[in-house]
Amino acid sequence: MKVSRIARSARLNPGKYDVLAEQARRLGRVRSEVWQRYGSAAGVGSGLTDRQLRDRWLADGTHIQFGVLANAWKETVRDAMGDIAANLASAKVEVRRAIVRRTDDLAERKRMFTALKADDWADDPFLARQMRKHWNRGRNRTHNQILVRADKYNTIVDGRGRLWLAVPGLEPRKMVKIPLSTTIAPTGTLRLILRSGRVEVHYQIDAATMRSSQRPCGDATVGVDKGYTEALTDSEGQHHGVQLGVLLSSESDRLKERNRRRAILRSIANTAAARGDHAKAHRIKVNNLGTVKRDRQTARHRARVRTEIFTAVHRVVDEAATVVAEDLTKRFAGRKTLGKNLNRRLAGWTKGVTAEALKSVSERRGSALVHVNAAYTSQACHRCGRFGRRSGDRFHCTSCGVVWQADVNAAINILQRAGDPDIALHTPHHKVKQILQDRTDRHRTRLPVQDSSSATAERRANHPRSAMST
Ligand SMILES: [Zn+2]
Repeated sequence: MKVSRIARSARLNPGKYDVLAEQARRLGRVRSEVWQRYGSAAGVGSGLTDRQLRDRWLADGTHIQFGVLANAWKETVRDAMGDIAANLASAKVEVRRAIVRRTDDLAERKRMFTALKADDWADDPFLARQMRKHWNRGRNRTHNQILVRADKYNTIVDGRGRLWLAVPGLEPRKMVKIPLSTTIAPTGTLRLILRSGRVEVHYQIDAATMRSSQRPCGDATVGVDKGYTEALTDSEGQHHGVQLGVLLSSESDRLKERNRRRAILRSIANTAAARGDHAKAHRIKVNNLGTVKRDRQTARHRARVRTEIFTAVHRVVDEAATVVAEDLTKRFAGRKTLGKNLNRRLAGWTKGVTAEALKSVSERRGSALVHVNAAYTSQACHRCGRFGRRSGDRFHCTSCGVVWQADVNAAINILQRAGDPDIALHTPHHKVKQILQDRTDRHRTRLPVQDSSSATAERRANHPRSAMST
């Protein structure tokens, strides 16, 4: 089974859109021609396959008038023939019902079914009448689509982390590069649908590659902040993966204790060896300092953390068609210093798992993953944009005089970054700070501006600590 997915263009240059729209318009003429010639009973009667039709058009030069590249019109012919076949098949369903109503004679039914299947109905008055009745001769109404075969496009991630789709234009070897709003690369044959300045990229993925339990994604756009006590907090104020903090700190405690004991045992073994008691040293090494149990415990812990994080991402995708998040694959000197090396290692690893979960769950369930620049999202107030004070899981905006839940405030900021015209994914940290400061300085002389965050998000961010679901 195939499942449809849609990726969308982001801030596509109008010139490129026009080139694509022109190509789609010309391909619409190809479709109309196919419907005109083969969309009728006579056309079907010819029993032509799309390949034969293509060869015929190549031979008689029909294709030249369209003014598009060869692969583009060929794919379009195939698609239009497919549409005609689907149109015909749905008519046949009705006709089969009519046959069943008309006669109880099994042999007669079988004769008519066979004739219908072989498109051999023209000489049978009943079948011909039924086909005329149920098969409304179609015509092409599609003038905004381009089909691109899998080997005719490519995707590139630029230096700023944006995904670009390069598809053939009207000239040979002149690709049109479309910036996409997702980081999930489309696969297989693409159907580009052009609608009011934007390009929708429709494609299909094999449901067999998805787990059987996959549900479709939601329809909201949700920002998420990665945390350590919870795997994720979203811009709606929900916490997901709330066991993560407990799992990590108990693992950290366990490792510290285990390493302490192992150090003692190792020193006992070394002392014994120095004394010449090699049997004892060997015993300790084999029985107390082995790696089998240690590795098994590590694996079990990692599996638990992965489950917690993947479940958290699934909960987010239940609601979201678009997930806006920090690019967690990028590593930089963290401000969120965690003190102990061990904790930092665990945190670094969970960050990697979260990045993997966001990507793979988005791919499997069809939500778009949008990476944004997360600089200062945990230090600025989502309502007024000014820097506030963070202490623990509270964020205090001295300007608004309000205490937000720190991670919800950050998640709302992350969501807003997706539509930020000035802050791109790789805008340097110091520039982001400058931009944020300039904005609040500008606003200081005016009335406070109510930003795009919804009142709901604000209320949730603001709800009292006692109601937090940690
Ligand atoms: Zn504020």
